Amino acid sequence: MEVPLGPRKVLGVVWAPGMGDFDYAKTRSVIQVLDVAPMLQSMQKFLRRVSDYTLTPMPKMLRLATRAPGLGDPTSMRHVYRIGDVEVTRMTDTRQRVLALFEEFPEQCFTLKELAEAAEVTTSVVRGLVKLGAVAEHATPQDMPFPMLDPSLPSKKLSDDQEAAVEYLKGNEAGYSTTLLKGVTGSGKTEVYLEAVAACLKQGRQALVLLPEIALTSEFLTRVEARFGARPAEWHSGVTMTERRRTWKMVGQGNAQMVVGARSALFLPFQDLGLIVVDEEHDSSYKQEDGVLYNARDMAVLRASLVGGQVVLASATPSLESWANVESGKYRKIDLKSRFGVAKMPEMRAIDMRKETLPGDCWISPSLHKMVVDRIKVGEQSLLFINRRGYAPVTLCRACGNQVGCDSCDARMVEHRFLKRLMCHQCGETKPVPKICPSCKAEGRLAVVGPGVERLAEEATALFPDAKVAVLSSDMFGSARALKAQIAALAAGEVDVIIGTQLVAKGHNFPLLTLVGVIDADLGLQGSDLRAAERTFQLMRQVAGRAGRSDKPGVAILQTHQPEHPVIRAILGGDEETFWRTEAREREVAGVPPYGRLVGVVLSSNNEQEAFDVGQAMARNCIPLTKIGAQVFGPAPAPIARIRGRHRVRILVKASKSAPIQTALTEWAAQFELPNSLRLSIDIDPQSFY
Ligand code: ADP
Ligand code: ZN
Repeated sequence: MEVPLGPRKVLGVVWAPGMGDFDYAKTRSVIQVLDVAPMLQSMQKFLRRVSDYTLTPMPKMLRLATRAPGLGDPTSMRHVYRIGDVEVTRMTDTRQRVLALFEEFPEQCFTLKELAEAAEVTTSVVRGLVKLGAVAEHATPQDMPFPMLDPSLPSKKLSDDQEAAVEYLKGNEAGYSTTLLKGVTGSGKTEVYLEAVAACLKQGRQALVLLPEIALTSEFLTRVEARFGARPAEWHSGVTMTERRRTWKMVGQGNAQMVVGARSALFLPFQDLGLIVVDEEHDSSYKQEDGVLYNARDMAVLRASLVGGQVVLASATPSLESWANVESGKYRKIDLKSRFGVAKMPEMRAIDMRKETLPGDCWISPSLHKMVVDRIKVGEQSLLFINRRGYAPVTLCRACGNQVGCDSCDARMVEHRFLKRLMCHQCGETKPVPKICPSCKAEGRLAVVGPGVERLAEEATALFPDAKVAVLSSDMFGSARALKAQIAALAAGEVDVIIGTQLVAKGHNFPLLTLVGVIDADLGLQGSDLRAAERTFQLMRQVAGRAGRSDKPGVAILQTHQPEHPVIRAILGGDEETFWRTEAREREVAGVPPYGRLVGVVLSSNNEQEAFDVGQAMARNCIPLTKIGAQVFGPAPAPIARIRGRHRVRILVKASKSAPIQTALTEWAAQFELPNSLRLSIDIDPQSFY
């Protein structure tokens, strides 16, 4: 409902009967009760639990759960179209196509745009039919229910392994369970979980599929439509405001059976959520890094457990967290070990860069060069992968050694030739590429160092002059639509050499792609991140998995300076279980996730001294934490010591998994009166340490 709060109008939720004393005379009337389904008890409980776990104040949780635009607006009307009762005398091809649609979908009412698009005609053809009376126009409320999905339509013919996996998931049906659906890239995990969706819909319950990347949705929606005869509801930042409101409302009324979306779809008001699929569950983008700091994968498990639903975590390279939960018996596991049909897993090899001779400022080794040329000759595609956006990561002054940095962050500016500017990857600030060194004012001495995806593309264009080279990087597309079009063009084989960042690693299908070359496999192994080995393993395996997805076999090549490194060896097809077991042992001994708990506490302020002083006071007075056996490290400058002009000081808290860390943190933080100029952020289970 909408209520007055001071001079403002805000959304409110009826939570529980009022308690305590209040001055009745001061109460004000509700402005309006919204035309939406009431919030369920299970949702309240879910929000409360997420709030308790992540230490997020309840109002912030409620905002997350009601974040649809215009919920309070009166419903406007719009026109929809059905078959009319006048026969057309002069039939044309285009008219015929429109009328055929009504025959095919007698129950459905279309909007003008939907009708024109589905029949592949212009809107004037439809308008003409309306004038003749062959098509009837009706006005209906704007927020229409989603078309029904039909789970009884035939599925694809499943392989024996897939069939067994589906049967296993169906065996789970009653009540809560979590299953890790592990399967090599191209094994048909999507086909398998679509059958779990079908089973869920047949029970009359709702299903939610979370994807890590908007660019993946359109391909997925097409598959859903092929399976169930209609498209599901969508929820992500690329969806229009009206459509978001429609989805929010219809999910609440039970008029959307299936939602495909980003992590925040978890907070939609489902009436009866029977299944949550988290695809690519290892993906670090499931962790929300600002606002409410939650991990959608873990919260999916929580939500399902509160409503007696099933969770399916799908991945070719599961997170160590999920691996450990399988080991300890908390999650079940299915393993699809081979690709569907004739497709084989790519062969994986290393190129030892110590043995290759390359001219300066070149990154494609002679061996890799030759392999790409061979592919171009036979009309197959190659992907050259580098996980770095922009042209070059460093702009350096050869006179004074200064590296051009961001004015408000402790970060280097990255040159983006495509934009003709330098950009800070922390705050997004850009500035023109300087001609003179900002530090020593020397002219003409600035040079770029190291490769980014744009520079690699330049090298490839020079090496393969007759080939078509295209870059796929998230920052090069103004809109989701442009990106989608580019991905479709790549899949159709319009390009010989694809140069890509990690965007290409995620789930896309490029049938003609038979060679993947990783330019710098060592890149992710540097640094001290707890998950460096795990992330590198996952990313390299995912990228390699793009090769040879159809009938032609694929090869994946890692350019590396340390082919004997245990992680590189594990990636190259060594023994995967041993890699996980070793990694798990190391983390267990160190008492870090998933075997222990870490909490990142960051204090930020425009005043560096202030942040440090408070940090020191907090570290000194940490009895509530030490009482439960937690250790406190710091304060120290955070790895990125300044972002957007704010200095950042970090304290790290380490505790055992069973310790009541949230209560202790709350008690600890409550001891300090923080100045307004200081921000405190507490990140339970941080994914990145910056
Ligand atoms: P994954 O999700 O494990 O990467 P997908 O479900 O995307 O795998 O399957 C890979 C490819 O194989 C897709 O093009 C898919 O349509 C096809 N495929 C998988 N299983 C079947 C099946 N049973 N029948 C026909 N095609 C299938
Ligand atoms: Zn910056």
